[in-house]
Amino acid sequence: MAAKTMDCDLVVIGAGGYGMVCAVKAADLLPGKKVIVLEKAKKPGGATIFGHGPNNIYDSTWQRNAGTEPQVPQDPSGVFFDFLVSKGEADAKKYFEVGEVIFMGSMTQKIGINMPRRIDKYKGLDDPSIGPGWWGSYIVDKMMECCKKMNVPVLTETRVKKFLKDSSGKVTGVLADTKDGELQVNFKACYVGAGGFGANYKKCQELWPKVYNNTPMHNLVPPSLTGDLIDVAQEAGTGIDLKNAGCNTQGPYHHPYSYTIHIMTKTDAMVLQVNPEGERIPTQGFSAPGREFANPLVYSIADQDILEKAAELAPKQISEPDDKERVKKWREDLAEEVAVDEKRRYGRHTTKADTIVDLALKLGMDPNVLLASVEKYNKECESGKSQGTMAGDQGRGIAETPNKSQMPVKKSPFYAIFLQPFRQCTHGGMIVNVNQEVLDAKGNVMPGLYAGGDCTTEYTVNTGSQTGGQGGPQGMQGGRGGQGGQGAGGRSGGGGRRGSPGIFGDYLAGQGGGMMGFGKAITAAIKIADYLNKA
Ligand SMILES: Cc1cc2nc3c(=O)[nH]c(=O)nc-3n(C[C@H](O)[C@H](O)[C@H](O)COP(=O)(O)OP(=O)(O)OC[C@H]3O[C@@H](n4cnc5c(N)ncnc54)[C@H](O)[C@@H]3O)c2cc1C
Repeated sequence: MAAKTMDCDLVVIGAGGYGMVCAVKAADLLPGKKVIVLEKAKKPGGATIFGHGPNNIYDSTWQRNAGTEPQVPQDPSGVFFDFLVSKGEADAKKYFEVGEVIFMGSMTQKIGINMPRRIDKYKGLDDPSIGPGWWGSYIVDKMMECCKKMNVPVLTETRVKKFLKDSSGKVTGVLADTKDGELQVNFKACYVGAGGFGANYKKCQELWPKVYNNTPMHNLVPPSLTGDLIDVAQEAGTGIDLKNAGCNTQGPYHHPYSYTIHIMTKTDAMVLQVNPEGERIPTQGFSAPGREFANPLVYSIADQDILEKAAELAPKQISEPDDKERVKKWREDLAEEVAVDEKRRYGRHTTKADTIVDLALKLGMDPNVLLASVEKYNKECESGKSQGTMAGDQGRGIAETPNKSQMPVKKSPFYAIFLQPFRQCTHGGMIVNVNQEVLDAKGNVMPGLYAGGDCTTEYTVNTGSQTGGQGGPQGMQGGRGGQGGQGAGGRSGGGGRRGSPGIFGDYLAGQGGGMMGFGKAITAAIKIADYLNKA
């Protein structure tokens, strides 16, 4: 017997972006009905609070007013944005504008929605590359405000551990652990927005052993994202498809250390890269999310002149005006990292030495190996033949001519800047259809049970005439992590690859989640409202 029991119309599991958007929209549509949100962590937000993107909003009222053609029916991303603006009121006007979207200097879209780099209270933080995310933190803060206004309780430190069923086998309640003992919540409908399982290294390793191969990776995943709810759901009989799940690991980057140095390592001046043994490796760009790393752990080797050049080039690679200012303090950042390294703090940062031999010794490399790599590289610089082009994750090998900014490593002091992969989140789990209804292990709808976001794999019926499931062809890439788009459900259809065969019936599967898919949480709320109004 649970210590406490609550009754409600709709319970939402997980106070991340999907859960909160669904809770608020459902409360809008269901005046007088009781909505409760249960959240395992101490604070709401999940991975969402860290997400920067999406920059791909289609067909919002703002864009239509600025001259885009209306779509019928309206794209879910536009529906979501209109909802967000309606909740943001005056501050939405302050933060968002229609224009050309520039995202991390690489992706542009005419008449997109420009987003704030972060909301005011987070401005001026030293490292803008780690959270809170620009959109994500805005969405979470806004939804929390709405919950407060609408009397939707968000019960934190409340971990759902079991679904309860009635005699017909219908899911009607949950049991959760709280600080004050066990809580039972009885409901008429439930929406699961419990996020991915990126914090569960073991589970990730089982699914993607080549990526999660015990190489040190920086972890950006909030600790509550262990995927326990996916197991809880499976125990209750929901269909689970992890075969079509995806993970987002990226790098190698100098991340999360000084953002300035991180940007400098990506410039054309920083060409010589070596592995932890000191052997030269092809210069890497950054790998596609979830791909195996050819050389996961990397040192960028530079001398003082190269760093000066990289600092000169860095502002050209940055689109944000205040980042251009930030780069000016690279000497300070470099000195700070070197000081941390000299104190032999945990982890690898930036190592400095007067000679290449000393640098190798400090890094635990055979000095002869590093010396040979530097000498060979310097000769390539002189001869005009080099491996030095920025390349994909496997490297492009030898280029005939070095880039114009490539310089030999000659002038003391010498630096080794550490780069490593990072992991961000996973997408996939409970099987849902395009209405966000949860399917059981045989593919039947489980009445009253809905889910969305990173904990889901979305199934669309494959009619045989479409390339990417019901939503049409392959979608656009989402934010930096690329989690948006390419889902089976169309361009705003959450993350993941183009639809691939599901585990039963005539279905294509696509990973749910990503910041592109919040329109799906609105779809779920509308379906839930219909369901409850008919109940
Ligand atoms: C560092 C970082 C950067 C990112 N950047 C981008 C980006 O730029 N663009 C982009 O598209 N995406 C990005 N993402 C991914 C994106 O944030 C997620 O895909 C999306 O926000 C997932 O939303 P969600 O609501 O499904 O899950 P979450 O926001 O993770 O919310 C799930 C919630 O459920 C709770 N929960 C879990 N289990 C239980 C349980 N048993 N009981 C109760 N509560 C539970 C969790 O604590 C969590 O609060 C990023 C993610 C990270 C971590």
